[in-house]
Amino acid sequence: MQTTVHDTPEHDLLREQVARFLAREVEPHADAWEREGRVPRDALRRMGEAGLLGIAFEPEYGGGGADALTNLVFAEALAASLSAGFVITVLVHTDMAGPHLHHAGTAAQKARWMPGVTAGRTITAVAITEPAAGSDVAGITTRARRVNDAAGDGWVIDGSKIFITNGVLADLYFVAARTGAGRHDISIFAVERGTPGLRVGRALDKTGWRASDTAELFFENCRVPADHLLGEEGKGFRAVMKNFQTERIALAAMAVATCRHAIDLTLEHVRTRRAFGDTLWAKQAVRQRIAMLDAKTRAARQYLYHCAWRTAQGHDAHSVVQDVSLLKALTGELVNEVTHGCQQLHGGMGFMTGTPIERLWRDARVLAIGGGASEVMLDEAAKRY
Ligand SMILES: Cc1cc2nc3c(=O)[nH]c(=O)nc-3n(C[C@H](O)[C@H](O)[C@H](O)COP(=O)(O)OP(=O)(O)OC[C@H]3O[C@@H](n4cnc5c(N)ncnc54)[C@H](O)[C@@H]3O)c2cc1C
Repeated sequence: MQTTVHDTPEHDLLREQVARFLAREVEPHADAWEREGRVPRDALRRMGEAGLLGIAFEPEYGGGGADALTNLVFAEALAASLSAGFVITVLVHTDMAGPHLHHAGTAAQKARWMPGVTAGRTITAVAITEPAAGSDVAGITTRARRVNDAAGDGWVIDGSKIFITNGVLADLYFVAARTGAGRHDISIFAVERGTPGLRVGRALDKTGWRASDTAELFFENCRVPADHLLGEEGKGFRAVMKNFQTERIALAAMAVATCRHAIDLTLEHVRTRRAFGDTLWAKQAVRQRIAMLDAKTRAARQYLYHCAWRTAQGHDAHSVVQDVSLLKALTGELVNEVTHGCQQLHGGMGFMTGTPIERLWRDARVLAIGGGASEVMLDEAAKRY
């Protein structure tokens, strides 16, 4: 059944393919990955073999050449999984880190790394946030200085990063570093795992997304060849802002899919749970509360598709950025409202570790923080009125 005005039969096939992959390769293992705090590389390799890593990247490098709408269908279908840790591991690779190579890489850089990215052999991470600069990207202090000596032409990176998703798992990091004195003089560098001077810290312990690894990175005299500069020198700030658009649509897709999941679980629960001589569903206040949460979720979903459609149409970037910022703020807040309300209707059971609604509620929290906190998103939108 067509659920958005933008749906096509190809989208439905993609949704079914992703659902089959999740049922076969993810859901049976999701609890173990959550306990172990990791996603095995094999699972990502199998996703690559199924053609599901990088459907928006160029076909000549193993990608699917899909537009922003189809890419959203993929993200939303993937986010139907209860394993948000797995979902974010993949979406960072396909929608947050990978786009840096896709958008700014030269033919030689893409030929070198992209086939591994789409096959799931080369896992990627994007390293922007630092201990003293998160929302304020232009405040980063990690530096890269150009060197040209006996060892050749290159860059030496010094500084540290924090909260880097796939930090432990990744083979290739796209690292933002300051390359000039101006506030926006930032460049992006491709740094391979094992490069001398790059030290990967421990995986940080988190409230949610527990299967996903989030790590600190330390750069001490970390030297990369000159051809590891991604895009133009000094244009990294703009690249980060551009790639945030794909990232924020993917995070909004996670939020909307989580709302849907929470509402469906709650409908099932209140129809059978009895109190005061009848089911919870028999109580008007309960029915109306769920219906309102569903109304907001359905509206947010249409806005999500509208934003991806505008991106696919190539509408004026200025106003699309405003839409995507509003979308990120709206869905980041909504998923917290919905999971909180749905957890409430599960009573004490909803507070028990490991119940599906408790997982959704815990995993939802970061969606109002990561990839642009709600306040920052609202300011980005407000600047454009
Ligand atoms: C699980 C997880 C995974 C992450 N993955 C990555 C990753 O892969 N790569 C990466 O580079 N980063 C990553 N991040 C970092 C994430 O993007 C930042 O945490 C986020 O941008 C907020 O930055 P901050 O934590 O430094 O908060 P701060 O910038 O210190 O802000 C704290 C709070 O202050 C408020 N605030 C900030 N600015 C304003 C403002 N202008 N007006 C009003 N209120 C404001 C907001 O409520 C915000 O939450 C991740 C974070 C988490 C938690």
